[in-house]
Amino acid sequence: MDTPLDALRRVFGYDSFRPGQQEIIEHVVAGGDALVLMPTGGGKSLCYQIPALVRPGTGVVVSPLIALMQDQVDALTALGVNAGFLNSTQDFGERQRVEAAFLAGELDLLYLAPERLRVEATLRLLEKGDIALFAIDEAHCVSQWGHDFRPDYLGLSELRERWPEVPRIALTATATPDTHAEISTRLGLDRARHFVASFDRPNIQYRITPKSEPKKQLLDFLRTEHAGDAGIVYCLSRSSAEKTAEFLSEHGIPALPYHAGLDTRTRALHQSRFLREEGMVVVATIAFGMGIDKPDVRFVAHLDLPKSVEGYYQETGRAGRDGQSATAWMAYGLQDVVQHRRLALEGDEIHRRRQSLHLDAMLALCESVTCRRAILLDYFGERAEGSCGNCDTCLAPPETWDGTVAAQKVLSTVVRLDRERRQKFGVGQVVDILLGKKTAKVEQFSHDSLSVFGIGTELTAAEWHSAVRQLLARGLLAVEPQYGALVLTDASAEVLRGQEKVPLRRDLKPRTSRSSSTAK
Ligand code: ADP
Ligand code: ZN
Repeated sequence: MDTPLDALRRVFGYDSFRPGQQEIIEHVVAGGDALVLMPTGGGKSLCYQIPALVRPGTGVVVSPLIALMQDQVDALTALGVNAGFLNSTQDFGERQRVEAAFLAGELDLLYLAPERLRVEATLRLLEKGDIALFAIDEAHCVSQWGHDFRPDYLGLSELRERWPEVPRIALTATATPDTHAEISTRLGLDRARHFVASFDRPNIQYRITPKSEPKKQLLDFLRTEHAGDAGIVYCLSRSSAEKTAEFLSEHGIPALPYHAGLDTRTRALHQSRFLREEGMVVVATIAFGMGIDKPDVRFVAHLDLPKSVEGYYQETGRAGRDGQSATAWMAYGLQDVVQHRRLALEGDEIHRRRQSLHLDAMLALCESVTCRRAILLDYFGERAEGSCGNCDTCLAPPETWDGTVAAQKVLSTVVRLDRERRQKFGVGQVVDILLGKKTAKVEQFSHDSLSVFGIGTELTAAEWHSAVRQLLARGLLAVEPQYGALVLTDASAEVLRGQEKVPLRRDLKPRTSRSSSTAK
């Protein structure tokens, strides 16, 4: 029988293990349960593939990534590994062939969609064969508090009852300390050894910049720093993915859209062009990238705010898997906050609370004045020492200013508008009033007669937007879900009473002269 190192060299053609792999593999080969936390690209697959090859029987891999099973099996087959999968995309004949191969003991690895294990027939099939181990990939999907919950994962607790002797290895790239504990409980992994690799990706430079003209900002970023590089741009909507890809192409950057609205053939084509051609940019909704292994992605850009820090970490983690330097760049603005606050108010109570906590953490990262990497690592339960020197706040520490009075002006305006029950007003109206602009809408509602009209000329519209964004991010102001109107929160009162100071991050370079107040 092969040793793990033999299998690594002979089957996979690699010389040596990556950090952590060998220990995990030896533990599972010896029959132990394991819970593995390793960042994307860390090399989790080998942690179950090699034990499956070394131990007698078939390694059964539970994975939610049905779309990738064919590719994974093809890749293994090309290496001479006997692998198959069972999921809903197969016809009866294909399924039967795989089942027969499994029963005959011919498979090294069998990939299963989690819902298969809800079917009694599948469990009976597995009972008739010889199982080397169970691998539960994307194990965070069992967490109801995570961002990727799949109810079918709850059924996986059965595995221990039915196969107490078979080692189980659960793997994930996203787990806060809470999710980590939840995975362990829900999967019954109380005897499992925990392997936690560092989540730090030192070669990725994290940068988050205020959004003004996103497409143009993106173009500048690509032209100045990533000309000719391959990368992924994430957008929230299909239409903005389309438009952005078009915009980049028109400006000489080869770019392709990728989202769930495209047919399967087009998506497969765009994906394979991204993998094969040099310097290709894919503009995608979140549907892109799960399980894609392209080592030389030099940048990941976000034109919209991800829903959670886990999502942000996972998506940015697709950059720089080869260890060479890469950039995670994001443009984020007021509309993102408004939109996400509104989304976070949909659904049932649990869903709302979860979304809202995820959003708070994401916004805290965006508005941070300290090291972004330290915040990310802290989120995943890792202590980081000092400043990393490779994120925007470390490279150019942001200035803060005392925004207490500005905050009071915003909140006072919101209070006055809130009294007008018939009509709801968003940030645009608030800023116009503060700046004393007599727009049609201001005149229509006689807002120029409010005492707050024109009391905010010391800041620009952009600075007011920045202030409002930061107030929203900190919960000192809220968005009313139905109309997107600004409303006060409980915390607003303390600011209005002057009981709370509000330091704000300065986004834009301070102007050299302030038009009216300084030029007498
Ligand atoms: P993860 O599932 O953790 O995101 P993968 O298992 O897909 O990561 O591995 C990421 C990449 O690293 C793959 O291309 C894989 O072949 C490669 N890899 C994994 N382990 C090793 C190793 N010991 N030596 C060289 N390359 C490795
Ligand atoms: Zn830093």
